This record gives sequence, C-alpha cells and structure tokens, in this order.
Amino acid sequence: YFTSNTVAFLDGEFVPAERATCGVYAQSLHYGYSVFEGIRAYNTPAGTRIFKAEEHYERLHYSCKCIGLPLEYSVEELTRISYEVLKRNNLNDAYIRPLVFAGTPNMSLKAATTSNLLIAVWEWGKYLGDQSLRLTISPYERPNPKAVPIEAKVGGHYVNSIIASTEAKGRGYDEALLLDMNGYVAEGPGANFFFERDGELYTAPQGSILRGITRNTIIDLAREAGITVHEKFFTPEELRTASAAFMTGTAAEVIGIASVDDVVFEKSFQHSIGGMLAGHYHALVTGQAVSRNASFAEQR
Ligand code: PMP
Repeated sequence: YFTSNTVAFLDGEFVPAERATCGVYAQSLHYGYSVFEGIRAYNTPAGTRIFKAEEHYERLHYSCKCIGLPLEYSVEELTRISYEVLKRNNLNDAYIRPLVFAGTPNMSLKAATTSNLLIAVWEWGKYLGDQSLRLTISPYERPNPKAVPIEAKVGGHYVNSIIASTEAKGRGYDEALLLDMNGYVAEGPGANFFFERDGELYTAPQGSILRGITRNTIIDLAREAGITVHEKFFTPEELRTASAAFMTGTAAEVIGIASVDDVVFEKSFQHSIGGMLAGHYHALVTGQAVSRNASFAEQR
C-alpha cells in the first residue's frame, strides 16, 4: 500500500505515509468506531478523474452522521484533497481510501467530539480478480439493521465481512454470499449481488445492504439499456431459476459469478447482461462514454 515515497493526507497535512500513524489508545482501534470509503480514480482522456467523488463523500458524511462521529471537511474539500494526494503520488488509476477515526485516547463508550482524517491512495487491480467467482452462502448473516446502521460504511461492520470471507475461502470458495436476518440474499462481504433471469436483473432492496454506488451506477446503466431491474427480496433457492449472476463494488468493479454452492449458472459472464454492463461501466469510468445519470466530479 505504500513505499518510502508515498504521501498520505493526515489531519490537515500531506505526510510520508510511513509516518501517518495513530496511537494504540485510540477509541476507533478498540471499538471499530470509524468510518471509511472506497473510491477509484481513472485515467480518462480529460486527465485523472475520481469516479462519483461527490456520492462517495456524501456517503462518508452520512456514515459519520449515523454513528455520531464528527467530520470537519466538506465534500468539496475532501474531493480537492483527494486529487492532491493522487497528484503528489503521481497516480492516475488508483484506489482512494478516506478513513475518519477517533484517534484521541478514549476508552469510554461515548461518541467522540473530535475526529481524525486520513486519505491514502494506492494502485489496486480489480479486488476480486477477473475470473468468474464461485460463491458459497455464508453461515454468517449480515448484521441486523436494528443493531447497527448497516447502510453506513463503519469500520466495525467489516469484522462480519472478514470472518465471512475467510470462512468461505477456508471451504475452498472464492468469496462468501451473505443472507440477511430474514434469510434473504443480501450481499457479499465487500460487494453487492445481482442475478439475471429472463433478460431482467434482480438485486436485494435497500434495508440490509450497503447501498453501493456501483450498484446504483449499474442500475442506471441497465435501465438506460432498456433492461428491467427489480429491487426485491429473494431467497438462495430462487437462484436456481437464474441464468447468470454478478457482483458490483468500487474495488471489485463488475465481476461475474460462476456458481453459488451447487447452483451453476448456465450463461458465461461474457454472454450475460452483467458482462455487457461491465463493458458499459468500464467505458463510463474511463471517460469513453457518458451516461445520463452517472456523474463525474470535476477536477479542481
Ligand atoms: N457492500 C459492501 C458490504 C461493501 O463493502 C461494498 C464496498 N464499498 C459494497 C457493497 C459496494 O459498494 P460500492 O459500490 O459503493 O463500492
């Protein structure tokens, strides 16, 4: 993630990444009380462009609000700083990781009154690779939305993601697929899930998933292409009627799913709606195509 030349933004300053540290008495470290984002910048004909910077930084603000963590920077400031971190590291195609954390020594369970901000960048290929994945239904459920604000991207929620992903890989699968508290398919540990049936797409509705920005982009692109998208609850059993499936996320982009446990999808990703939309997504983020709804933040 960094070398001796890497620069990160920490609390108002651009510092060598190896010196961007936090104390072991930080409240966030003990309780997972932090908020983060995963954003990508792409090399486009018009230069480096952060894809949907505004949406990501609005979600960062929303996540902070959900857990009562202050965030002193506006969406515009966060975007400007992100471009600057990219520039100082000479990166065009990169992953951007903003982290808001409570770094002050504090062992209480009271919401922090101040916060720290890190913005780190690094080169990151497609998080889950290029090959269609073999998924397995996880024995771990997604957190109950009545226990934690599941639509917020909170550090502590990712303990669920880590244990589910590790458990799936331990059984020889590529990744986990998690159900919600009612037994409906929710999402992967770090990506949303879609399946195709009779030329239409299905994905879990909001409520017990992270409302992915890639998910929204794919829904927009599908509808622009005249494809019906249903946001509705479905059980793992229903996947037997699906002909293809894929997952979406900023880090993973759009990735095909070959199977979920013993359900093997008949269509290859390349010949599925997901495969077609992956092409549209790539064209959009790299500035080769425009979409009515999918916006780019202006470079500042
Ligand atoms: N669900 C979870 C649990 C995630 O961590 C992510 C990655 N942020 C997503 C879905 C996809 O969200 P996005 O498309 O905004 O990256």
